[in-house]
Amino acid sequence: MKKYDYLVVGAGLFGAIFAYEANKIGKKCLVIDKRSHMGGNIYCENIDGINVHKYGAHIFHTSNKQVWDYVNQFVEFNNYINAPIAIYKDELYNLPFNMNTFYQLWKIKTPEEAKLKIKEQVLQSNIKNPTNLEEQAISLVGEDIYKKLIKGYTEKQWGKSAKELPAFIIRRLPVRFTFDNNYFNDIYQGIPIGGYNVLIEKLLQGIEVQLNVDFFKDRVNLENIANKIVFTGMIDKFYDYKFGKLEYRGLRFEQKTLNIENYQGNAVVNFTEYEIPYTRIIEHKHFEKVKSESTIITEEYPVQWTEDKEPYYPINDENNNNKYLKYKNLSNKDNNIIFGGRLGNYQYYDMDKVIEEALNAITLIKE
Ligand code: FAD
Ligand code: UDP
Repeated sequence: MKKYDYLVVGAGLFGAIFAYEANKIGKKCLVIDKRSHMGGNIYCENIDGINVHKYGAHIFHTSNKQVWDYVNQFVEFNNYINAPIAIYKDELYNLPFNMNTFYQLWKIKTPEEAKLKIKEQVLQSNIKNPTNLEEQAISLVGEDIYKKLIKGYTEKQWGKSAKELPAFIIRRLPVRFTFDNNYFNDIYQGIPIGGYNVLIEKLLQGIEVQLNVDFFKDRVNLENIANKIVFTGMIDKFYDYKFGKLEYRGLRFEQKTLNIENYQGNAVVNFTEYEIPYTRIIEHKHFEKVKSESTIITEEYPVQWTEDKEPYYPINDENNNNKYLKYKNLSNKDNNIIFGGRLGNYQYYDMDKVIEEALNAITLIKE
């Protein structure tokens, strides 16, 4: 008899939901995390009344009512709508690409004019079947927007030419012919009141959690204390890179406290030219409309990923996806391991998708 039913590696969103639901059906779980806190990348640190998103801006959005209702059982959400500003060479544009952006770029006022302008540029580009991010972007919004608002941001974000990147990445952004600056098309959106830690703490309440424990540093022991493992870290590392290394993109966050009340007037400002080394500046107080005399900002610098850094983004190009499939096929043969989350499944998942997946994993173990 092993001490636990499940060893859950990673106290992020996937691990926390899995452990909560497994615990509810009487399964004994041990959750470990190599970090010194719970929550994974949604973790916030409260500094002077401001919830600082320590691993980048996290805005909850979903069109899945089941997921929305699920998170709302634990925490109430505010009515924050993400409407980032882009700065390109000291000019300001609204995101995502909408009538406001088209007016700022071309001084045109009607959807018909905007459609015509984009159509002309798309025709000129002569792209028929877009096969990479650059071609996809130009065929969605034309050359002007691509050059000012996409190319520089994308190439610094991913450290690759936009021609080498998969097209799906740019399809995350809406293009619309209305004056609507909402960055997401989803039906539900907001920030948990009190921050994301409220959600994670409720999920993991009463469950054994050990922090500062790296699975790989005590693998033999840890593999023997539970009947099954739920693994939300890097799948390629779990299998000792036997099919080769998957690629990731790293980030460096530079956090500053400023002695002014309001620094940039918006939670998220993107810097779309290549020459500015960070992609965005987050001013955390705006997520929750915090009133305070000072403010906290974070500059987000994309960096090349190396093994000593956190793997924030999987790079889902064809090469990596094919390699990942080999790992996935291998994992399918082992009933004692469940891979979950962004790293376990090597997918560019937003939070709602991770929740959906964790709930699916629970449905499977109930069967
Ligand atoms: P994680 O949060 O990464 O948790 C995995 C945990 O496993 C980590 O705590 C890690 O320390 C631990 N771990 C890994 N390996 C080991 C090991 N060997 N031993 C012990 N512990 C280990 N989604 C949205 O919906 N909206 C957003 O606005 C948004 N913004 C984002 C911004 C950035 C910069 C990033 C990087 C992501 C963003 N996301 C956003 C995505 C969101 O962060 C993820 O979907 C979600 O947090 C993933 O949860 P997870 O549990 O899969 O992974
Ligand atoms: N993107 C861009 N310009 C922007 C914002 C985004 O070109 O101002 C592109 C870029 O390629 C980025 C992708 O759109 O990687 C997806 O953006 P999103 O905001 O969804 O990225 P995330 O929040 O996951 O970093």
